[in-house]
Amino acid sequence: MNGCPCGYYGDSKKECSCSDYEVKRYLNKISGPLLDRIDIHLEVPRLEVEELNNYKQGEKSSQIRKRVERAREIQKKRFEGEGISQNSQMTPSLIEKYILLDKEARELLEKAISTLNLSARAYDRILKLARTIGDLAGKDIIGSQEIGEAIQYRSLDRKLSL
Ligand SMILES: [Zn+2]
Repeated sequence: MNGCPCGYYGDSKKECSCSDYEVKRYLNKISGPLLDRIDIHLEVPRLEVEELNNYKQGEKSSQIRKRVERAREIQKKRFEGEGISQNSQMTPSLIEKYILLDKEARELLEKAISTLNLSARAYDRILKLARTIGDLAGKDIIGSQEIGEAIQYRSLDRKLSL
């Protein structure tokens, strides 16, 4: 989807002609409850054909697959006997049981919650995303890096609280 009515919000080459109010009203049309049901909101800049052609190979997809499979295994093991197999299926009580944050991560999350005025559901999403990011990196305890990345993936929550 576009980030605003004119379609250039956040574009590096052309300026958005919408007012803050117009952007907010536009994003509000996708209601909060709907956004809460989407795991990851990510802002992706427009790419020129040239840039696509020059696209440098990052991590190979076979490597990524290995990492993802490993993270899935970790999750399966974690939830043995809980009746679920993935982080995204965690209930609030399971979130409390299985997501451990270090001090920095807790402080960052508290700050984000109060500054961004996030819903309880968005809060749970951030924790679950952070847990998955941690699993992909092979980390047991969630640090501020994982929390920070998860908050970024909820960028539309941030915009809606402009
Ligand atoms: Zn615009």
